[in-house]
Amino acid sequence: GLSDRLQDIFKKLRGKGKIGEEDIKTAMREVRLALLEADVNFKVVKDFVERVRQRAIGQEVLQSLTPGQQIIKVVHDEMTALMGGSESKLTLAAKPPSIYMLVGLQGAGKTTTVAKLGRNLLRQGRRPVLVAGDIYRPAAIKQLQVLGEQVGIPVFSMGQSNPVDIARASLEYARSQNRDIVILDTAGRLHINEELMDELKQIKSAINPHEILLVVDAMTGQDAVNVAESFNRDLGLTGVILTKLDGDTRGGAALSVKAVTGCPIKYVGMGEKLDALETFFPDRMASRILGMGDILSLVEKAQANIDQEKAREMERKIRKQEFTLEDFLEQMQQVRSMGPLDELLGMIPGIGKQMKGFKGEFDEREILRIEAIIKSMTLQERRDTSIINGSRKKRIARGSGTKVQEVNRLLKQFEESRKLMKQFADLGGKKGKRGGMP
Ligand code: GDP
Ligand code: MG
Repeated sequence: GLSDRLQDIFKKLRGKGKIGEEDIKTAMREVRLALLEADVNFKVVKDFVERVRQRAIGQEVLQSLTPGQQIIKVVHDEMTALMGGSESKLTLAAKPPSIYMLVGLQGAGKTTTVAKLGRNLLRQGRRPVLVAGDIYRPAAIKQLQVLGEQVGIPVFSMGQSNPVDIARASLEYARSQNRDIVILDTAGRLHINEELMDELKQIKSAINPHEILLVVDAMTGQDAVNVAESFNRDLGLTGVILTKLDGDTRGGAALSVKAVTGCPIKYVGMGEKLDALETFFPDRMASRILGMGDILSLVEKAQANIDQEKAREMERKIRKQEFTLEDFLEQMQQVRSMGPLDELLGMIPGIGKQMKGFKGEFDEREILRIEAIIKSMTLQERRDTSIINGSRKKRIARGSGTKVQEVNRLLKQFEESRKLMKQFADLGGKKGKRGGMP
C-alpha cells in the first residue's frame, strides 16, 4: 500500500547521514509514483510534489540537522493541508432542527451512514430522527428501520410516497417530537443521471438543508472523486463522507477529494459496524498514511510544553526499552496539562487504538483510574511489569478500587505503547545519536 511505499522511501533518506538536492529529487520521483499508484488525482500529485520539493530544497530541510526526519514533517504538513488542514464540523441550525441530507450512488453506504451519524450525534446529546427517503426499494425503508432500532433512534417513514413530501413532512415530525436533527436518507442510482439529480434538487429546494453530504466509497479511488465533482456541480455539497476506508489501502480518494472539489471530508466510515464512523482529522489521516500514529502532532505539542531535557531522557529510555509505567504515568500527567484529553490521548500510539470506540467522549475519570492503578503498584512493579502476577493484580485492583480486568487492560495498553514507541524511535533515527524524535 501507499503507506509502505512512502515509509520505504523515507527510510532510505533517513539512512543517509547527509542528503543533497539529488537525494531529494530521487525521493520526490518515488513519492510521485507512489501517489499515482495509490490513485491520487494526477494534478493533485503534481502540485503536491512540487510544493514538498520546494520546501525540501529550501533551508528547511537541507540545513536541518535531521534532514530525513524533517522531510517527513514537510510531507506530513503538506498532506494535512491538502486534505483541508483541520477538522470540518457539521453546521448546526440556529433554530432546530438542523437538516442533514445524505446523497450518493447506490451501495456507497448512505443508509448505513445515516444510522451511524445518528448514533454519533445521539451520543453527543442530540435528539436525531432518521428519515426513510429512499422509496424505490421497499427493502431500503425496512433496512433503515432495523438500523434505527439498533441505534435507538426513531425512523420517520411514509412508505413509498413522493420523496419531496416525505422530506417536508419529516420536518413537521421533528418539530412536533422535539427532535433537533433530521438526517435524511435518499435514493441512489448505479450511475449519476438526470432523474436522480432532479429529484435531489427538488428535495433540496423543499427543505433547504444545512448540510448536503455526499457519501462515497473510498475503494473506488478516482471514481469517488469524479462522483464528488458532479454532485458538487449539480447540487452544491457542504461536505463528503468517505466510506469503506477500512478496505482502502490506497488512500487516493482521501488525498484528492478536497483538493479537486473544494469540499471537505467530514467523516470517514471505518467498517460495517454502527460505531465505525469517525470524524475526519486531516493531520491524523496524514499520520496514518505515513504510518506514524499521531505522534508528530503529539511531539509538536510536547515540544512546546515539555521541558527539552526531560524529553531527551524519555527518548533515551524508549530506545533502550527502559520506559516504565512510572514514565508512562508521568507522560500522561504532562499530557494532561497540555490540552483537551481526548485529542491528546488519541495521539499516543496504542492508546489511540483503544480510544477508537469512544473518541470525543473520553473523560478524565479514565485517566484518574489509570493513575490510581499505577499508584497502587510497588516501585518494583512499576519498573518491571513482568513480575505482576495474578495475586499482585488482585492486590493492585483492590488498592485502586478497580477490577483485575482494568489492571490487565492498562498493562496491555502500556505494553502496546511501549512497543510502538520503540518502533517509532528506531524508525526515527537508525543513526541514533543525532537526536530528537521528528
Ligand atoms: P446505500 O445503497 O448507499 O444506502 O448503501 P448501504 O448503506 O446499504 O451500504 C452498502 C454496503 O456497504 C453495506 O453492506 C454496508 O454494510 C457497507 N458499508 C457501508 N459503510 C461501510 C464502511 O465504512 N466500511 C465497510 N467495510 N462497509 C461499509
Ligand atoms: Mg440505501
